[in-house]
Amino acid sequence: MMVPSQTGKKAEKAAAAAIVSHPVLSLGATRFMELEREVEQAYRPQMLQALEEKVQAEAGTIASQAPQCPHCGQAMKYHDRPKVSWIVRYGRLRTAAARYRCAPCHYQCRPLLDHLGVEAGRISGSLARLLVLRTVIAPYELAARLACLWLGVEVSAMGVWRVTQRLGEAAAQYQEEVTRYHDDSRSPDSPAKEAADVVVVGVDGCVLGMQVRQRRRRRADDGSPLPALPPIALPPDLRPRLENARLDLLALFRALDRMDLSPAEIPQQLLRQLFELDADYGEALWALDQPPGKLNQHAMLRDTLAALEQLPQRLIKFRNLLPPRAQGTLPSLELSVRRSLHSREAYNMVPGRDPKIG
Ligand SMILES: [Zn+2]
Repeated sequence: MMVPSQTGKKAEKAAAAAIVSHPVLSLGATRFMELEREVEQAYRPQMLQALEEKVQAEAGTIASQAPQCPHCGQAMKYHDRPKVSWIVRYGRLRTAAARYRCAPCHYQCRPLLDHLGVEAGRISGSLARLLVLRTVIAPYELAARLACLWLGVEVSAMGVWRVTQRLGEAAAQYQEEVTRYHDDSRSPDSPAKEAADVVVVGVDGCVLGMQVRQRRRRRADDGSPLPALPPIALPPDLRPRLENARLDLLALFRALDRMDLSPAEIPQQLLRQLFELDADYGEALWALDQPPGKLNQHAMLRDTLAALEQLPQRLIKFRNLLPPRAQGTLPSLELSVRRSLHSREAYNMVPGRDPKIG
């Protein structure tokens, strides 16, 4: 049967209705998605237990060999067998790992952890990679929440930040070494037929961690764009102030990372504020390099000075909330890290100036 085609205004109206009908997102997960998640949650303890059993079996295979001290070559002495744990894809794995010592060299090691390639108290390598994939698409805090939802593991934003920094650093270091190798005329040619079967794409979390905004956030109160203003003279000490602030924060973050505090011992919200200030300073350093007229310098200067003024108070608040044992050792550790930093590191994550990516 032929359907009479609509003509004239009626057809226009119908076409318009078809265009404006709003798409609807489904509100919750489907029943099947719930079932999938239930099964995963239910069997995680079994998977964790199976993994723990495998670790025990590995411990059995290396138990009889006393390791050699890498410094003096003597056989090391058995010291104790403390419990250790690390976070894996199915939760927190716990086991006992024998500790050996070489008294003359003040050196100690846990052969099981070396054998497995894990670090006590840390996040396992495979989980770290999964977490870092999330930081590619989301800020650290959201990435931590996504990890909980998608992987069922509870990791703090600080934990996600830490693994991202470490993998980012490793990726950057690998790139540097490859470049150095190819720059060196003594390196043997690698013929194409020996090309690797896999290609490793280095994701530098340091760069991804900061999303540079092309336009500053703040606008006039009524939402209208700010009018163009004539160029202004920036204070000459702006760049060094920003560089110092970033280096101070970097020293603090690295010192904290070395202290092995648990996420619960670190005031996470204040830490996030410090990350945000750091990103603001990085963004301001980037803005200083842009051609005049590209950015609203008045807004940039106002926001930057405001962000610089906040730092001392935020730092005091953050430090006061750390546990007493950290308050005792952090300042000296921070100072020694700060002294070891190169001034170039103030430009970490600054597009076009990052010392690691050139
Ligand atoms: Zn020794």
